Amino acid sequence: MPVNKEKYQQIRTELDAKKVTLVAVSKTKTKEDILELYHLGQRDFGENYVQELVDKAAQLPKDIRWHFIGHLQTNKVKLIAPFVQLIHGVDSLKLLKEINKEAVKNNRVIDCLLQIHIAQEETKFGLNEEELELLIGQLADMPMANVWVAGLMGMASFTDDMAKVRIEFKRLREVFDHHAKLQTSNLKPQNLSMGMSSDYKVAIEEGSNMVRIGSLLFGERVKK
Ligand SMILES: *Cc1c(COP(=O)(O)O)cnc(C)c1O
Repeated sequence: MPVNKEKYQQIRTELDAKKVTLVAVSKTKTKEDILELYHLGQRDFGENYVQELVDKAAQLPKDIRWHFIGHLQTNKVKLIAPFVQLIHGVDSLKLLKEINKEAVKNNRVIDCLLQIHIAQEETKFGLNEEELELLIGQLADMPMANVWVAGLMGMASFTDDMAKVRIEFKRLREVFDHHAKLQTSNLKPQNLSMGMSSDYKVAIEEGSNMVRIGSLLFGERVKK
């Protein structure tokens, strides 16, 4: 499946006008595919699998900003800590501590988004609102100089029912607005990462400022 350059230009124009960051989700796609968008000016790319991200980052231009959008295991943090731009799916204090530890070793500050569970579907990933409150409280008590909680991330239910998706995004936006007022030494919520190929327009209407789009740009993925 070829990269859809026309679609890219169209989405990019639409998002630039609204000051929404486009993360091009390149998981399972080749280096050549990524370079096609890179040559059109795209710099933010998102990957879900640690080893794939590490391999691609080593072989592609150094000014690419790599976003890790998958579920990150603590034992893999060290592999991406030297270069990752933003880790979208953080959902535990344990993981934050590990990211901080590896960030210290690399002499960097690593930006993270806390993943909030907004979909009705059951999933192991993401914090509910109570857990979010708890984690933010713990963060305030525990100075971690090398991580920066830069916002929230969420995924709506996997459904064609856009009314339902809208309600879920609206809720995440409310949670984000509530926390955007709270700013502590390592909490500064600025990014609200919500919206994918099927629902990014609704997400932006509901206040997203960062969307993660894969298949619209790169074509459908073969299931891994
Ligand atoms: C794969 C993925 C995306 C992109 O999905 P598309 O439907 O291809 O746009 C966005 N966010 C996350 C967390 C993903 O895993």
